Amino acid sequence: MGIKTDFLIIGSGIAGLSFALHAASSGTVAIVTKKERMDASTNYAQGGIASVFDLDDNFDLHIQDTLKSGDGLCNKKIVEMVVKDGPERIRELISLGVNFSHQQDNPEKLDLGMEGGHSRRRVVHTKDRTGSEVERALLENVKENSKITIYEDYMAIDLITKSKLIKRGIISSESKESCWGAYVLNIKDGEVITFQSRITVIATGGAGKIYLYTSNPDIATGDGIAIGYRAGVKAANMEFVQFHPTCLYHPLAKNFLISEAVRGEGGILLNSKGERFMEKYHSLKDLAFRDIVARSIYLELKKSGDECVYLDISHKSPDFLTERFPNIYETCLNYQIDITKQPIPVVPAAHYMCGGLLTNENGATNIRNLYAIGEVACTGLHGANRLASNSLLEALVFAKRAAEKAGKELKENRRSPLTKAPQWDPGSATDSEEMIVVSHNWDEIRRTMWNYVGIVRTNKRLARARVRIENIQEEIKEYYWDFIVNRDLLELRNIALVAELIITCASMRKESRGLHYNLDYPDKDDEHWNRDTVI
Ligand SMILES: Cc1cc2nc3c(=O)[nH]c(=O)nc-3n(C[C@H](O)[C@H](O)[C@H](O)COP(=O)(O)OP(=O)(O)OC[C@H]3O[C@@H](n4cnc5c(N)ncnc54)[C@H](O)[C@@H]3O)c2cc1C
Repeated sequence: MGIKTDFLIIGSGIAGLSFALHAASSGTVAIVTKKERMDASTNYAQGGIASVFDLDDNFDLHIQDTLKSGDGLCNKKIVEMVVKDGPERIRELISLGVNFSHQQDNPEKLDLGMEGGHSRRRVVHTKDRTGSEVERALLENVKENSKITIYEDYMAIDLITKSKLIKRGIISSESKESCWGAYVLNIKDGEVITFQSRITVIATGGAGKIYLYTSNPDIATGDGIAIGYRAGVKAANMEFVQFHPTCLYHPLAKNFLISEAVRGEGGILLNSKGERFMEKYHSLKDLAFRDIVARSIYLELKKSGDECVYLDISHKSPDFLTERFPNIYETCLNYQIDITKQPIPVVPAAHYMCGGLLTNENGATNIRNLYAIGEVACTGLHGANRLASNSLLEALVFAKRAAEKAGKELKENRRSPLTKAPQWDPGSATDSEEMIVVSHNWDEIRRTMWNYVGIVRTNKRLARARVRIENIQEEIKEYYWDFIVNRDLLELRNIALVAELIITCASMRKESRGLHYNLDYPDKDDEHWNRDTVI
């Protein structure tokens, strides 16, 4: 079966949906999404979107905070562009029906949250449920747009590129590599569908599931990075994996984040003796940048042998806490933790991928007709460490810019007919009876990455991780072609590749900077390493 469309968007988070709404005025849009349409990191974002609205704030301060967080590796032009576009993108969301929180004593004005690394209050939010409110509004607008079709439970496998068509003898041409759509698995019935498109957009989000402990939902398996890299897109800065300092530590809680905004509103980190410890590590104490807080917690736990530290906000009034953090309050209470009376047990967990597919200022990759936006991309905004609440902003800014650029490209592309791409060829693959191998390898990759390529790295640990991941990849190669593809197998192939890319970049960078900390090179080396790691 085949489907033809002007724009194919892979992913229905903030990046994919925003792109769709902008692009629909230029052509037909198909969005494929591997679970239900709301299943995206976007839906879980709590804190909000950083942007300059306060009279006490200005673009320069937001730019400086972002550059400082990025530890020398941000692209200054991109930072300036994103920060300056911010207020307009937020106003656009409001016009699409997003209900942001307003100040109680001045309901005309947006309520602005404070988060680590920000020198001013500038986080636009909807209480502590910002992501789900944004996702709701975007989906409602998408639903009303007759040019956009969403395909749920459709998982992109690989891109259809010109060189693949040349290899199969379908076309012959020497010009620049280009993308003409993707092979997509209908997860429910197992059929692989050929989506042919004039423009393809990878908006598949992050890769937190590569690690044993993560704040990310199950969809975050780095598919887009793997799909793009296999097709020949450059990847960059994959060593910069952000570990969020405060995920709920409870045997029954899966992936629940305690937003940075809790520390922004006065939350204090304590060890098991009830002592504050952040002042030992940084002058900004509990509001230091995320990499510093996560590393400090790691060191505290290593010293004490404890399993978690504690985040205490119980000194604030119950009325304030239930109004400002209703989601965190209710979720913790479900686990018998009353945040108005007691500290919350927390640990760091993999949270955000600062690296990804390398793009330019319009979200375009090095392959023609192919864009990457949102968390999957490496745009130059975050450098070595993302500033809190800058990622939803990045997705909004790049979705708009990419849609504008791609709309123009589409007009050019329409001059020639779409080459007919071949159907997916399953070869002699059969149904697998050995899914235990897949789940075992999944588990081994996630543990290896957590233990050897986590918050603190060494050359030896990286070398060990590489050997293990290479062995697993060999196994995957053996059975990938033998068995009919399914979601678990495809995700396994993707997490193994993305793990390899993280290890490769981490081994290349012979210094410590931002989120990458290697005990064998504990210092920053601006002379040799003030640059991106591009592979
Ligand atoms: C718990 C949590 C809290 C956060 N809080 C904040 C915050 O307060 N502020 C902030 O700025 N950032 C925050 N972030 C980060 C931010 O939410 C994400 O970076 C952002 O939402 C990513 O948006 P996206 O559109 O790129 O990807 P996502 O929202 O993750 O969407 C990815 C989409 O791609 C689909 N997909 C993936 N692979 C495939 C495939 N192979 N085929 C088809 N579809 C596929 C998924 O199903 C999903 O629909 C938070 C993240 C988490 C996890």
